[in-house]
Amino acid sequence: MRKLIAGNWKMHGSQEWLDKVKSFEKLLPSRKRSHIEILICPPFPYISGLAENAKGTEIAIGGQNCHANATGAHTGEVSAEMLVDCGAQYVIVGHSERRAGGESDADVKAKAAAAARGGLVPIICVGETLSQREAGDAQSVVSSQIAGSVPSDVDKYVVAYEPVWAIGTGKVAEISDIEDMHNHIRKAVGKSVRILYGGSVKPGNAKDILKTENVDGALIGGASLNMEDFSEIAKSA
Ligand code: PEP
Repeated sequence: MRKLIAGNWKMHGSQEWLDKVKSFEKLLPSRKRSHIEILICPPFPYISGLAENAKGTEIAIGGQNCHANATGAHTGEVSAEMLVDCGAQYVIVGHSERRAGGESDADVKAKAAAAARGGLVPIICVGETLSQREAGDAQSVVSSQIAGSVPSDVDKYVVAYEPVWAIGTGKVAEISDIEDMHNHIRKAVGKSVRILYGGSVKPGNAKDILKTENVDGALIGGASLNMEDFSEIAKSA
């Protein structure tokens, strides 16, 4: 299984950032990365432009969210079909920053199902808060998020395990904790599903994280905004 190195630009970017795929390609040409897959998930307005610039580079482009419906009166929303139309192949659903805004497991499941129906691979995010970990509930929280967020009839999906307390904080889970959780998730999702780790992945810690058993890639926020850092992480896969 090729490791997936996925960047989540969150709400960062501008037209000038459309050149970043070319910079990445120069730093790490596609011929040197047949064992990994690169994905960039920019804000919606930049998907088409990045997908255009990514032609011939083997860099995939994805969205950061989608609506559960294909079309309709949903002001400000974007459907999976629209993302595909703009050149996306993946979409992140259920990121903790959206769950914190009220997105439930049922919402995430509906979005993941819509993504698959629309032709995208959903990246379904799960992860415990610090208080849940400290209470010893990390695995049960993640099990329940998987049970509630993964549609039973979708077989092509990715799970991103992102402990909430490690996102954007510089705190990284211990390798042994990552290993335990990924082994736990593996039992729930089976062999064919890629399980990414996310939470303050940087060039300095990526190698150890990416060689951990059942870590099939990484979902990277802050360090994906800088192509030198992003390519260094990819090189360690
Ligand atoms: C994320 O937003 O999914 C993430 C992991 O962010 P960071 O790498 O900045 O912690």
